[in-house]
Amino acid sequence: MYRSNTCGELRLSDVGQTVTLAGWVQKVRNLGAMTFVDLRDRYGITQLVVAEDAGDAVKAVAGELGREFVVQATGRVIERASKNAKIPTGDIEVAVSELRVLSAADTPPFTIEETSDGGDDLRMKYRYLDLRRPPLQRAMMLRHRLAQAARQYLDGQGFMEIETPFLIGSTPEGARDFVVPSRMNAGEFYALPQSPQTFKQLLMVAGYDKYFQIVRCFRDEDLRADRQPEFTQIDCEMSFVEQEDVLTTFEGMMRKLFADTLQVEFPAEPFRRMPYAEAMARYGNDKPDLRFGMEICELTTLAQGRGFGVFDEAEYIGAVCAAGCAGWTRKQIDEITEYVKRPQVGAKGLVWVRLDEGGEVKSSVDKFYQPEDLRAWAEAVGAQKGDLVFVVSGARGQSLRVLSELRLELGERLGLRDKTKFAPLWVVDFPLLEWDEETERFYAMHHPFTSPKPEDVSLLGSDPGKVRANAYDFVVNGVEIGGGSIRIFDSKLQAQMFELLGFTPEKAAEQFGFLMNAFRFGAPPHGGIAFGFDRLCSLFGGADSIRDYIAFPKNNSGRDVMIDAPSRIDKSQLDELSLKLDL
Ligand code: ASP
Repeated sequence: MYRSNTCGELRLSDVGQTVTLAGWVQKVRNLGAMTFVDLRDRYGITQLVVAEDAGDAVKAVAGELGREFVVQATGRVIERASKNAKIPTGDIEVAVSELRVLSAADTPPFTIEETSDGGDDLRMKYRYLDLRRPPLQRAMMLRHRLAQAARQYLDGQGFMEIETPFLIGSTPEGARDFVVPSRMNAGEFYALPQSPQTFKQLLMVAGYDKYFQIVRCFRDEDLRADRQPEFTQIDCEMSFVEQEDVLTTFEGMMRKLFADTLQVEFPAEPFRRMPYAEAMARYGNDKPDLRFGMEICELTTLAQGRGFGVFDEAEYIGAVCAAGCAGWTRKQIDEITEYVKRPQVGAKGLVWVRLDEGGEVKSSVDKFYQPEDLRAWAEAVGAQKGDLVFVVSGARGQSLRVLSELRLELGERLGLRDKTKFAPLWVVDFPLLEWDEETERFYAMHHPFTSPKPEDVSLLGSDPGKVRANAYDFVVNGVEIGGGSIRIFDSKLQAQMFELLGFTPEKAAEQFGFLMNAFRFGAPPHGGIAFGFDRLCSLFGGADSIRDYIAFPKNNSGRDVMIDAPSRIDKSQLDELSLKLDL
Protein backbone atom coordinates (compact mmCIF):
# COMPACT_ATOMS: atom_id res chain seq x y z
CA MET A 1 0.00 0.00 0.00
CA TYR A 2 1.58 3.28 -1.08
CA ARG A 3 -0.69 5.51 0.92
CA SER A 4 -3.50 5.36 3.45
CA ASN A 5 -4.64 8.92 2.87
CA THR A 6 -4.23 11.79 0.45
CA CYS A 7 -2.39 14.99 1.33
CA GLY A 8 -5.64 16.94 1.55
CA GLU A 9 -7.54 14.73 3.89
CA LEU A 10 -6.31 14.70 7.46
CA ARG A 11 -7.98 16.80 10.17
CA LEU A 12 -7.92 17.18 13.94
CA SER A 13 -10.28 14.18 14.20
CA ASP A 14 -7.47 12.01 12.78
CA VAL A 15 -5.01 12.87 15.55
CA GLY A 16 -3.48 9.73 16.99
CA GLN A 17 -3.80 7.66 13.83
CA THR A 18 -0.82 6.21 12.05
CA VAL A 19 -0.99 7.11 8.37
CA THR A 20 1.07 6.75 5.23
CA LEU A 21 1.16 9.56 2.69
CA ALA A 22 2.82 9.80 -0.71
CA GLY A 23 3.36 12.90 -2.77
CA TRP A 24 5.72 15.60 -3.98
CA VAL A 25 7.93 17.70 -1.75
CA GLN A 26 6.88 21.31 -2.16
CA LYS A 27 9.10 22.82 0.47
CA VAL A 28 11.67 21.68 3.06
CA ARG A 29 12.50 23.80 6.10
CA ASN A 30 15.39 22.61 8.14
CA LEU A 31 15.36 24.21 11.57
CA GLY A 32 18.32 22.25 12.92
CA ALA A 33 16.60 20.02 15.42
CA MET A 34 13.49 19.63 13.33
CA THR A 35 12.76 19.43 9.61
CA PHE A 36 9.39 20.42 8.18
CA VAL A 37 8.30 19.15 4.79
CA ASP A 38 5.25 20.34 2.84
CA LEU A 39 4.02 17.26 1.03
CA ARG A 40 1.71 17.88 -1.94
CA ASP A 41 -0.60 15.89 -4.14
CA ARG A 42 -3.58 17.05 -6.13
CA TYR A 43 -5.78 16.91 -3.04
CA GLY A 44 -3.76 19.33 -0.94
CA ILE A 45 -0.71 19.81 1.24
CA THR A 46 0.11 18.11 4.53
CA GLN A 47 2.97 19.14 6.75
CA LEU A 48 5.39 16.40 7.75
CA VAL A 49 7.63 16.91 10.72
CA VAL A 50 10.85 15.00 11.22
CA ALA A 51 11.62 15.55 14.90
CA GLU A 52 14.82 15.22 16.90
CA ASP A 53 13.81 11.73 18.01
CA ALA A 54 12.79 10.46 14.57
CA GLY A 55 15.83 8.21 14.29
CA ASP A 56 19.04 8.65 12.32
CA ALA A 57 17.86 6.81 9.22
CA VAL A 58 14.76 9.01 8.82
CA LYS A 59 16.77 12.14 9.56
CA ALA A 60 19.33 11.18 6.93
CA VAL A 61 16.64 10.77 4.28
CA ALA A 62 15.04 14.06 5.31
CA GLY A 63 18.40 15.75 4.90
CA GLU A 64 18.57 14.68 1.26
CA LEU A 65 15.14 15.90 0.17
CA GLY A 66 14.78 18.50 -2.53
CA ARG A 67 11.84 20.17 -4.23
CA GLU A 68 9.58 17.82 -6.20
CA PHE A 69 11.10 14.62 -4.81
CA VAL A 70 8.42 11.96 -4.64
CA VAL A 71 8.36 10.49 -1.14
CA GLN A 72 6.41 8.13 1.03
CA ALA A 73 6.10 8.96 4.70
CA THR A 74 4.56 7.05 7.57
CA GLY A 75 3.86 8.56 10.96
CA ARG A 76 1.37 9.61 13.57
CA VAL A 77 -1.04 12.47 13.05
CA ILE A 78 -0.48 15.08 15.78
CA GLU A 79 -2.02 18.44 16.56
CA ARG A 80 0.13 21.33 15.40
CA ALA A 81 1.56 23.77 17.88
CA SER A 82 1.28 26.65 15.42
CA LYS A 83 -1.75 26.11 13.21
CA ASN A 84 -2.06 27.29 9.62
CA ALA A 85 -5.57 28.55 8.97
CA LYS A 86 -4.83 28.96 5.25
CA ILE A 87 -4.97 25.26 4.41
CA PRO A 88 -7.63 22.68 5.33
CA THR A 89 -5.03 20.36 6.87
CA GLY A 90 -3.48 23.24 8.79
CA ASP A 91 -4.46 22.00 12.26
CA ILE A 92 -2.38 18.83 12.07
CA GLU A 93 0.96 17.48 11.00
CA VAL A 94 2.41 14.01 10.58
CA ALA A 95 5.31 13.08 12.89
CA VAL A 96 7.37 10.95 10.54
CA SER A 97 8.71 7.59 11.68
CA GLU A 98 9.49 6.13 8.24
CA LEU A 99 10.54 8.07 5.18
CA ARG A 100 11.37 6.77 1.73
CA VAL A 101 12.34 8.54 -1.45
CA LEU A 102 10.34 6.96 -4.28
CA SER A 103 11.80 9.20 -6.94
CA ALA A 104 14.41 11.94 -6.78
CA ALA A 105 13.88 15.11 -8.80
CA ASP A 106 16.03 17.68 -10.53
CA THR A 107 15.42 21.22 -9.35
CA PRO A 108 12.29 22.31 -11.25
CA PRO A 109 12.72 25.23 -13.68
CA PHE A 110 10.06 27.31 -11.88
CA THR A 111 8.20 27.34 -8.60
CA ILE A 112 5.30 24.95 -8.42
CA GLU A 113 2.96 26.84 -6.15
CA GLU A 114 -0.25 28.85 -6.38
CA THR A 115 1.65 31.51 -8.33
CA SER A 116 4.77 30.60 -10.25
CA ASP A 117 7.89 32.57 -11.08
CA GLY A 118 8.09 30.83 -14.46
CA GLY A 119 7.37 32.70 -17.72
CA ASP A 120 4.77 31.49 -20.21
CA ASP A 121 7.19 29.73 -22.55
CA LEU A 122 8.97 27.87 -19.80
CA ARG A 123 5.73 26.71 -18.26
CA MET A 124 4.48 25.49 -21.65
CA LYS A 125 7.71 23.54 -22.19
CA TYR A 126 7.30 21.86 -18.82
CA ARG A 127 3.53 21.69 -18.95
CA TYR A 128 3.45 18.56 -16.75
CA LEU A 129 5.07 20.60 -13.98
CA ASP A 130 2.74 23.54 -14.48
CA LEU A 131 -0.18 21.11 -14.28
CA ARG A 132 0.92 20.27 -10.74
CA ARG A 133 0.04 23.82 -9.67
CA PRO A 134 -3.27 24.40 -7.90
CA PRO A 135 -4.72 26.90 -10.44
CA LEU A 136 -4.29 24.41 -13.27
CA GLN A 137 -5.56 21.57 -11.13
CA ARG A 138 -8.68 23.61 -10.38
CA ALA A 139 -9.09 24.33 -14.09
CA MET A 140 -8.79 20.65 -15.00
CA MET A 141 -11.27 19.74 -12.29
CA LEU A 142 -13.75 22.34 -13.49
CA ARG A 143 -13.45 20.95 -17.01
CA HIS A 144 -14.02 17.44 -15.74
CA ARG A 145 -17.07 18.51 -13.70
CA LEU A 146 -18.60 20.36 -16.65
CA ALA A 147 -18.08 17.39 -18.97
CA GLN A 148 -19.66 15.02 -16.45
CA ALA A 149 -22.61 17.33 -15.83
CA ALA A 150 -23.22 17.72 -19.57
CA ARG A 151 -23.08 13.94 -20.08
CA GLN A 152 -25.41 13.34 -17.19
CA TYR A 153 -27.93 15.86 -18.44
CA LEU A 154 -27.88 14.66 -22.03
CA ASP A 155 -28.04 11.00 -21.03
CA GLY A 156 -31.00 11.86 -18.80
CA GLN A 157 -32.72 13.45 -21.80
CA GLY A 158 -32.25 10.32 -23.89
CA PHE A 159 -29.26 11.46 -25.95
CA MET A 160 -26.80 8.81 -27.14
CA GLU A 161 -23.08 9.51 -27.25
CA ILE A 162 -21.83 8.33 -30.64
CA GLU A 163 -18.32 8.77 -32.01
CA THR A 164 -17.72 9.98 -35.54
CA PRO A 165 -14.50 9.59 -37.52
CA PHE A 166 -11.48 11.91 -37.38
CA LEU A 167 -10.14 10.92 -40.77
CA ILE A 168 -12.69 12.36 -43.17
CA GLY A 169 -12.89 14.56 -46.25
CA SER A 170 -13.24 18.35 -45.96
CA THR A 171 -16.32 19.88 -44.38
CA PRO A 172 -16.52 23.43 -45.69
CA GLU A 173 -17.28 25.43 -42.56
CA GLY A 174 -15.28 28.46 -43.44
CA ALA A 175 -11.91 27.57 -41.95
CA ARG A 176 -8.95 25.81 -43.47
CA ASP A 177 -8.67 22.06 -42.97
CA PHE A 178 -5.80 20.17 -41.45
CA VAL A 179 -4.98 17.40 -43.88
CA VAL A 180 -3.46 13.97 -43.42
CA PRO A 181 -1.79 12.17 -46.33
CA SER A 182 -2.96 8.66 -47.05
CA ARG A 183 -0.18 6.09 -47.50
CA MET A 184 -2.47 3.48 -49.02
CA ASN A 185 -4.03 5.93 -51.44
CA ALA A 186 -1.02 7.78 -52.81
CA GLY A 187 -1.67 11.43 -53.60
CA GLU A 188 -4.91 11.49 -51.59
CA PHE A 189 -5.59 13.18 -48.29
CA TYR A 190 -7.93 12.93 -45.41
CA ALA A 191 -9.03 16.07 -43.62
CA LEU A 192 -9.50 16.31 -39.88
CA PRO A 193 -13.06 17.37 -39.06
CA GLN A 194 -13.78 21.04 -38.40
CA SER A 195 -16.87 19.60 -36.74
CA PRO A 196 -18.86 16.38 -37.08
CA GLN A 197 -21.60 18.33 -38.88
CA THR A 198 -22.36 16.04 -41.80
CA PHE A 199 -21.95 12.88 -39.72
CA LYS A 200 -24.40 14.02 -37.10
CA GLN A 201 -26.90 14.80 -39.83
CA LEU A 202 -26.35 11.33 -41.28
CA LEU A 203 -27.00 9.91 -37.82
CA MET A 204 -30.37 11.66 -37.90
CA VAL A 205 -31.13 10.02 -41.25
CA ALA A 206 -30.07 6.76 -39.58
CA GLY A 207 -32.70 7.29 -36.91
CA TYR A 208 -30.52 8.12 -33.87
CA ASP A 209 -32.78 11.01 -33.04
CA LYS A 210 -30.81 12.42 -30.10
CA TYR A 211 -27.05 12.41 -30.54
CA PHE A 212 -24.23 14.07 -28.66
CA GLN A 213 -20.50 13.86 -28.52
CA ILE A 214 -17.84 15.71 -26.56
CA VAL A 215 -15.54 15.83 -29.49
CA ARG A 216 -12.28 17.28 -30.73
CA CYS A 217 -12.51 19.54 -33.78
CA PHE A 218 -9.67 20.90 -35.91
CA ARG A 219 -9.44 24.25 -37.69
CA ASP A 220 -6.33 25.61 -39.31
CA GLU A 221 -6.91 29.26 -38.44
CA ASP A 222 -4.72 32.05 -37.16
CA LEU A 223 -4.64 31.80 -33.41
CA ARG A 224 -5.90 34.17 -30.76
CA ALA A 225 -6.25 33.92 -27.00
CA ASP A 226 -9.56 32.09 -27.30
CA ARG A 227 -8.62 29.86 -30.23
CA GLN A 228 -6.64 26.65 -30.51
CA PRO A 229 -6.03 24.57 -33.65
CA GLU A 230 -7.70 21.66 -31.90
CA PHE A 231 -10.55 22.37 -29.57
CA THR A 232 -13.48 20.55 -28.05
CA GLN A 233 -17.18 20.88 -28.72
CA ILE A 234 -20.23 19.49 -27.01
CA ASP A 235 -21.81 18.58 -30.32
CA CYS A 236 -25.52 17.72 -30.43
CA GLU A 237 -28.24 16.96 -32.94
CA MET A 238 -31.94 16.11 -32.61
CA SER A 239 -34.68 14.92 -34.97
CA PHE A 240 -38.32 15.99 -35.13
CA VAL A 241 -37.57 19.33 -33.56
CA GLU A 242 -38.13 22.97 -34.25
CA GLN A 243 -35.91 25.80 -33.10
CA GLU A 244 -37.86 26.24 -29.89
CA ASP A 245 -37.33 22.57 -28.93
CA VAL A 246 -33.59 22.89 -29.38
CA LEU A 247 -33.39 26.11 -27.38
CA THR A 248 -35.43 24.66 -24.53
CA THR A 249 -33.41 21.44 -24.39
CA PHE A 250 -30.06 23.20 -24.25
CA GLU A 251 -31.23 25.93 -21.97
CA GLY A 252 -31.90 23.06 -19.58
CA MET A 253 -28.35 21.82 -20.00
CA MET A 254 -26.92 25.27 -19.35
CA ARG A 255 -28.99 25.69 -16.21
CA LYS A 256 -27.65 22.39 -14.93
CA LEU A 257 -24.04 23.26 -15.73
CA PHE A 258 -24.35 26.60 -13.93
CA ALA A 259 -26.15 25.07 -10.96
CA ASP A 260 -23.88 22.02 -10.56
CA THR A 261 -20.52 23.72 -10.95
CA LEU A 262 -21.06 27.34 -9.89
CA GLN A 263 -24.22 27.08 -7.80
CA VAL A 264 -25.71 29.78 -10.02
CA GLU A 265 -29.48 29.53 -10.45
CA PHE A 266 -31.25 31.63 -13.06
CA PRO A 267 -34.85 32.86 -12.75
CA ALA A 268 -37.42 30.34 -14.01
CA GLU A 269 -38.51 32.28 -17.09
CA PRO A 270 -36.79 31.34 -20.37
CA PHE A 271 -33.44 32.93 -21.20
CA ARG A 272 -33.71 36.14 -23.14
CA ARG A 273 -33.97 35.87 -26.93
CA MET A 274 -32.93 38.63 -29.27
CA PRO A 275 -33.05 38.77 -33.07
CA TYR A 276 -29.70 39.34 -34.73
CA ALA A 277 -30.87 42.65 -36.26
CA GLU A 278 -31.83 43.96 -32.83
CA ALA A 279 -28.53 42.89 -31.29
CA MET A 280 -26.65 44.71 -34.02
CA ALA A 281 -28.72 47.91 -33.74
CA ARG A 282 -28.71 48.10 -29.93
CA TYR A 283 -25.26 46.74 -29.15
CA GLY A 284 -23.39 46.83 -32.46
CA ASN A 285 -22.55 43.19 -31.91
CA ASP A 286 -24.09 39.77 -32.53
CA LYS A 287 -22.90 38.61 -29.13
CA PRO A 288 -23.84 41.44 -26.80
CA ASP A 289 -22.70 41.52 -23.20
CA LEU A 290 -25.97 42.06 -21.34
CA ARG A 291 -24.48 42.39 -17.88
CA PHE A 292 -24.92 46.11 -18.39
CA GLY A 293 -27.10 48.49 -20.44
CA MET A 294 -25.37 51.39 -22.16
CA GLU A 295 -27.27 50.76 -25.38
CA ILE A 296 -26.30 52.40 -28.63
CA CYS A 297 -28.63 55.17 -29.78
CA GLU A 298 -28.73 56.23 -33.42
CA LEU A 299 -28.48 60.01 -33.89
CA THR A 300 -28.17 60.19 -37.68
CA THR A 301 -31.16 62.43 -38.41
CA LEU A 302 -30.86 64.38 -35.18
CA ALA A 303 -27.22 65.32 -35.68
CA GLN A 304 -27.15 66.16 -39.38
CA GLY A 305 -27.79 69.43 -41.19
CA ARG A 306 -25.98 71.85 -38.90
CA GLY A 307 -22.93 72.30 -41.09
CA PHE A 308 -20.58 69.85 -39.38
CA GLY A 309 -19.17 68.12 -42.44
CA VAL A 310 -17.99 64.94 -40.73
CA PHE A 311 -21.50 64.23 -39.47
CA ASP A 312 -23.35 65.50 -42.51
CA GLU A 313 -21.45 63.13 -44.79
CA ALA A 314 -21.75 60.12 -42.49
CA GLU A 315 -24.02 57.21 -43.36
CA TYR A 316 -24.61 56.63 -39.67
CA ILE A 317 -24.16 58.49 -36.39
CA GLY A 318 -24.58 56.74 -33.06
CA ALA A 319 -23.85 57.34 -29.41
CA VAL A 320 -23.42 55.66 -26.05
CA CYS A 321 -23.73 57.23 -22.63
CA ALA A 322 -21.11 56.77 -19.92
CA ALA A 323 -23.15 57.30 -16.78
CA GLY A 324 -21.56 59.46 -14.08
CA CYS A 325 -18.49 60.26 -16.20
CA ALA A 326 -19.02 64.02 -16.69
CA GLY A 327 -16.03 64.57 -14.42
CA TRP A 328 -13.64 62.72 -16.71
CA THR A 329 -10.40 64.57 -17.34
CA ARG A 330 -9.02 65.45 -20.72
CA LYS A 331 -6.53 62.63 -20.21
CA GLN A 332 -9.24 60.04 -19.61
CA ILE A 333 -11.11 61.13 -22.72
CA ASP A 334 -7.88 61.02 -24.76
CA GLU A 335 -7.17 57.52 -23.47
CA ILE A 336 -10.50 56.09 -24.53
CA THR A 337 -10.20 57.93 -27.86
CA GLU A 338 -6.81 56.32 -28.44
CA TYR A 339 -8.33 52.98 -27.51
CA VAL A 340 -10.94 53.16 -30.26
CA LYS A 341 -8.42 54.55 -32.74
CA ARG A 342 -6.30 51.40 -32.51
CA PRO A 343 -6.19 49.66 -35.89
CA GLN A 344 -8.15 46.69 -34.49
CA VAL A 345 -11.08 49.01 -33.74
CA GLY A 346 -10.46 51.62 -36.42
CA ALA A 347 -12.32 54.72 -35.22
CA LYS A 348 -11.25 58.03 -36.74
CA GLY A 349 -12.12 59.94 -33.60
CA LEU A 350 -14.69 60.45 -30.88
CA VAL A 351 -17.02 63.36 -30.32
CA TRP A 352 -18.06 63.90 -26.71
CA VAL A 353 -20.89 65.74 -25.02
CA ARG A 354 -20.77 66.44 -21.30
CA LEU A 355 -23.83 67.17 -19.15
CA ASP A 356 -22.34 68.49 -15.96
CA GLU A 357 -23.99 68.37 -12.54
CA GLY A 358 -25.32 71.90 -12.93
CA GLY A 359 -27.06 70.97 -16.18
CA GLU A 360 -24.53 72.83 -18.33
CA VAL A 361 -23.75 71.16 -21.64
CA LYS A 362 -20.36 71.20 -23.26
CA SER A 363 -18.91 69.26 -26.18
CA SER A 364 -16.01 68.84 -28.55
CA VAL A 365 -18.23 70.19 -31.37
CA ASP A 366 -19.51 73.35 -29.67
CA LYS A 367 -18.60 75.33 -32.79
CA PHE A 368 -21.25 73.57 -34.85
CA TYR A 369 -24.07 72.88 -32.46
CA GLN A 370 -26.29 74.89 -30.15
CA PRO A 371 -26.74 73.70 -26.56
CA GLU A 372 -30.34 72.66 -27.47
CA ASP A 373 -28.97 70.36 -30.21
CA LEU A 374 -26.58 68.74 -27.80
CA ARG A 375 -29.31 68.42 -25.15
CA ALA A 376 -31.51 66.68 -27.71
CA TRP A 377 -28.76 64.12 -28.38
CA ALA A 378 -28.19 63.63 -24.69
CA GLU A 379 -31.87 63.10 -24.12
CA ALA A 380 -32.11 60.61 -26.98
CA VAL A 381 -29.31 58.50 -25.53
CA GLY A 382 -30.86 58.72 -22.06
CA ALA A 383 -28.10 60.84 -20.50
CA GLN A 384 -28.70 62.55 -17.15
CA LYS A 385 -26.84 65.31 -15.38
CA GLY A 386 -23.35 64.10 -14.60
CA ASP A 387 -23.09 61.84 -17.68
CA LEU A 388 -20.72 61.86 -20.61
CA VAL A 389 -21.89 60.92 -24.12
CA PHE A 390 -19.62 59.62 -26.87
CA VAL A 391 -20.64 59.96 -30.50
CA VAL A 392 -19.24 57.99 -33.44
CA SER A 393 -19.92 58.52 -37.13
CA GLY A 394 -19.05 56.93 -40.45
CA ALA A 395 -20.20 53.93 -42.43
CA ARG A 396 -22.93 52.08 -40.57
CA GLY A 397 -21.22 48.71 -40.07
CA GLN A 398 -17.90 50.23 -39.08
CA SER A 399 -19.50 52.77 -36.69
CA LEU A 400 -21.48 50.05 -34.97
CA ARG A 401 -18.31 48.02 -34.57
CA VAL A 402 -16.59 51.01 -32.97
CA LEU A 403 -19.56 51.72 -30.71
CA SER A 404 -19.62 48.10 -29.63
CA GLU A 405 -15.92 48.17 -28.73
CA LEU A 406 -16.37 51.50 -27.00
CA ARG A 407 -19.31 50.20 -25.01
CA LEU A 408 -17.39 47.12 -23.90
CA GLU A 409 -14.33 49.13 -22.94
CA LEU A 410 -16.40 51.70 -21.03
CA GLY A 411 -18.16 48.80 -19.30
CA GLU A 412 -14.76 47.41 -18.35
CA ARG A 413 -13.47 50.75 -17.04
CA LEU A 414 -16.66 51.42 -15.11
CA GLY A 415 -16.55 47.98 -13.49
CA LEU A 416 -19.80 46.83 -15.10
CA ARG A 417 -18.43 43.52 -16.36
CA ASP A 418 -18.43 41.58 -13.13
CA LYS A 419 -17.04 38.07 -13.67
CA THR A 420 -19.28 36.57 -11.02
CA LYS A 421 -22.43 37.69 -12.88
CA PHE A 422 -23.81 35.84 -15.89
CA ALA A 423 -26.17 37.17 -18.54
CA PRO A 424 -27.27 34.31 -20.83
CA LEU A 425 -28.89 35.12 -24.14
CA TRP A 426 -30.08 33.40 -27.30
CA VAL A 427 -29.39 35.43 -30.43
CA VAL A 428 -31.81 34.23 -33.11
CA ASP A 429 -32.83 34.96 -36.72
CA PHE A 430 -29.34 35.30 -38.13
CA PRO A 431 -29.08 36.15 -41.82
CA LEU A 432 -28.72 32.99 -43.89
CA LEU A 433 -26.08 34.45 -46.17
CA GLU A 434 -23.31 36.95 -45.96
CA TRP A 435 -22.09 38.89 -49.01
CA ASP A 436 -18.35 39.07 -49.48
CA GLU A 437 -17.23 42.20 -51.35
CA GLU A 438 -13.85 40.79 -52.26
CA THR A 439 -14.94 37.56 -53.92
CA GLU A 440 -18.33 39.02 -54.88
CA ARG A 441 -20.33 36.07 -53.70
CA PHE A 442 -22.49 34.87 -50.86
CA TYR A 443 -21.18 32.73 -48.05
CA ALA A 444 -23.28 30.78 -45.59
CA MET A 445 -23.29 32.74 -42.35
CA HIS A 446 -23.51 29.55 -40.26
CA HIS A 447 -22.93 26.69 -42.68
CA PRO A 448 -24.49 25.45 -45.94
CA PHE A 449 -26.82 23.02 -44.16
CA THR A 450 -28.71 25.71 -42.25
CA SER A 451 -32.32 26.15 -43.29
CA PRO A 452 -33.92 29.46 -44.25
CA LYS A 453 -36.96 30.61 -42.29
CA PRO A 454 -40.00 29.21 -44.15
CA GLU A 455 -41.51 32.71 -44.44
CA ASP A 456 -38.31 33.96 -46.13
CA VAL A 457 -37.80 31.09 -48.60
CA SER A 458 -39.53 33.04 -51.39
CA LEU A 459 -36.77 35.69 -51.13
CA LEU A 460 -34.07 33.12 -51.95
CA GLY A 461 -34.40 33.84 -55.67
CA SER A 462 -35.02 37.59 -55.52
CA ASP A 463 -33.14 38.99 -52.51
CA PRO A 464 -31.02 36.26 -50.88
CA GLY A 465 -29.21 38.73 -48.61
CA LYS A 466 -32.50 39.40 -46.78
CA VAL A 467 -33.28 35.76 -46.00
CA ARG A 468 -33.17 34.94 -42.33
CA ALA A 469 -32.03 31.56 -41.11
CA ASN A 470 -33.29 29.20 -38.46
CA ALA A 471 -29.96 29.75 -36.77
CA TYR A 472 -29.18 30.65 -33.18
CA ASP A 473 -26.21 31.39 -30.95
CA PHE A 474 -25.96 30.98 -27.23
CA VAL A 475 -24.15 33.97 -25.75
CA VAL A 476 -23.05 34.67 -22.20
CA ASN A 477 -21.40 37.93 -21.12
CA GLY A 478 -20.42 38.86 -24.66
CA VAL A 479 -18.91 35.47 -25.43
CA GLU A 480 -20.36 33.14 -28.05
CA ILE A 481 -20.57 29.82 -26.25
CA GLY A 482 -22.56 27.84 -28.78
CA GLY A 483 -24.29 27.98 -32.10
CA GLY A 484 -26.50 25.84 -34.24
CA SER A 485 -29.41 25.71 -36.60
CA ILE A 486 -32.39 23.82 -37.89
CA ARG A 487 -31.12 22.05 -40.98
CA ILE A 488 -32.26 21.69 -44.52
CA PHE A 489 -33.57 18.13 -44.91
CA ASP A 490 -34.89 18.38 -48.43
CA SER A 491 -32.39 17.52 -51.16
CA LYS A 492 -33.91 20.04 -53.60
CA LEU A 493 -33.64 22.96 -51.18
CA GLN A 494 -30.13 21.81 -50.28
CA ALA A 495 -29.22 21.82 -53.97
CA GLN A 496 -30.62 25.36 -54.32
CA MET A 497 -28.56 26.44 -51.34
CA PHE A 498 -25.36 25.01 -52.83
CA GLU A 499 -26.12 26.86 -56.05
CA LEU A 500 -26.53 30.16 -54.18
CA LEU A 501 -23.17 29.50 -52.55
CA GLY A 502 -21.58 29.21 -55.96
CA PHE A 503 -21.25 25.44 -56.22
CA THR A 504 -21.80 23.92 -59.64
CA PRO A 505 -24.10 20.86 -59.46
CA GLU A 506 -21.02 18.69 -60.17
CA LYS A 507 -18.97 20.25 -57.40
CA ALA A 508 -21.88 19.97 -54.96
CA ALA A 509 -22.35 16.32 -55.90
CA GLU A 510 -18.64 15.63 -55.53
CA GLN A 511 -18.42 17.19 -52.07
CA PHE A 512 -21.84 16.47 -50.63
CA GLY A 513 -23.30 13.75 -52.82
CA PHE A 514 -23.35 11.44 -49.80
CA LEU A 515 -25.53 13.82 -47.80
CA MET A 516 -27.91 14.68 -50.63
CA ASN A 517 -28.20 10.98 -51.42
CA ALA A 518 -28.99 10.23 -47.81
CA PHE A 519 -31.74 12.84 -47.87
CA ARG A 520 -33.40 10.81 -50.65
CA PHE A 521 -33.90 7.89 -48.30
CA GLY A 522 -36.15 9.40 -45.67
CA ALA A 523 -34.60 12.32 -43.82
CA PRO A 524 -36.37 13.52 -40.69
CA PRO A 525 -36.59 17.23 -39.90
CA HIS A 526 -33.63 17.90 -37.64
CA GLY A 527 -31.47 20.53 -36.02
CA GLY A 528 -28.75 20.89 -33.47
CA ILE A 529 -26.13 22.93 -31.80
CA ALA A 530 -22.49 22.77 -30.76
CA PHE A 531 -20.98 24.41 -27.71
CA GLY A 532 -17.35 25.44 -27.54
CA PHE A 533 -16.35 23.42 -24.53
CA ASP A 534 -12.98 25.07 -23.87
CA ARG A 535 -14.60 28.51 -23.94
CA LEU A 536 -17.36 27.31 -21.70
CA CYS A 537 -14.72 26.19 -19.20
CA SER A 538 -12.91 29.53 -19.31
CA LEU A 539 -16.19 31.42 -18.91
CA PHE A 540 -17.09 29.33 -15.87
CA GLY A 541 -13.58 29.70 -14.50
CA GLY A 542 -13.61 33.49 -14.96
CA ALA A 543 -10.57 33.45 -17.25
CA ASP A 544 -9.98 35.13 -20.60
CA SER A 545 -7.87 32.45 -22.20
CA ILE A 546 -8.97 28.91 -23.00
CA ARG A 547 -5.42 27.63 -22.72
CA ASP A 548 -5.50 27.01 -19.00
CA TYR A 549 -8.45 24.69 -19.43
CA ILE A 550 -6.69 22.44 -21.92
CA ALA A 551 -4.20 20.02 -20.40
CA PHE A 552 -1.75 20.22 -23.29
CA PRO A 553 -2.49 23.29 -25.41
CA LYS A 554 -0.58 24.72 -28.37
CA ASN A 555 1.13 28.10 -28.15
CA ASN A 556 0.20 31.12 -30.27
CA SER A 557 2.06 29.83 -33.29
CA GLY A 558 0.24 26.52 -33.11
CA ARG A 559 3.23 24.70 -31.66
CA ASP A 560 3.39 22.21 -28.87
CA VAL A 561 6.73 23.33 -27.44
CA MET A 562 6.83 20.44 -24.98
CA ILE A 563 6.91 17.65 -27.55
CA ASP A 564 8.16 20.01 -30.26
CA ALA A 565 5.40 19.56 -32.78
CA PRO A 566 4.88 20.06 -35.65
CA SER A 567 8.22 18.65 -36.80
CA ARG A 568 9.99 17.40 -39.91
CA ILE A 569 9.59 13.77 -40.88
CA ASP A 570 12.20 11.45 -42.37
CA LYS A 571 12.76 11.15 -46.08
CA SER A 572 11.72 7.50 -45.82
CA GLN A 573 8.41 8.49 -44.29
CA LEU A 574 7.85 11.06 -47.03
CA ASP A 575 8.64 8.45 -49.66
CA GLU A 576 6.20 6.03 -48.14
CA LEU A 577 3.53 8.74 -48.43
CA SER A 578 4.61 9.59 -51.98
CA LEU A 579 5.28 13.17 -50.88
CA LYS A 580 8.01 15.58 -51.98
CA LEU A 581 8.64 18.82 -50.13
CA ASP A 582 8.98 22.06 -52.02
CA LEU A 583 10.35 24.48 -49.43
N1 ASP B 1 -21.29 22.36 -36.64
C1 ASP B 1 -21.60 23.68 -36.17
C2 ASP B 1 -20.34 24.35 -35.67
O1 ASP B 1 -19.35 23.68 -35.42
C3 ASP B 1 -22.58 23.69 -35.07
C4 ASP B 1 -23.94 23.21 -35.47
O2 ASP B 1 -24.51 23.74 -36.41
O3 ASP B 1 -24.42 22.30 -34.80
O4 ASP B 1 -20.33 25.56 -35.47
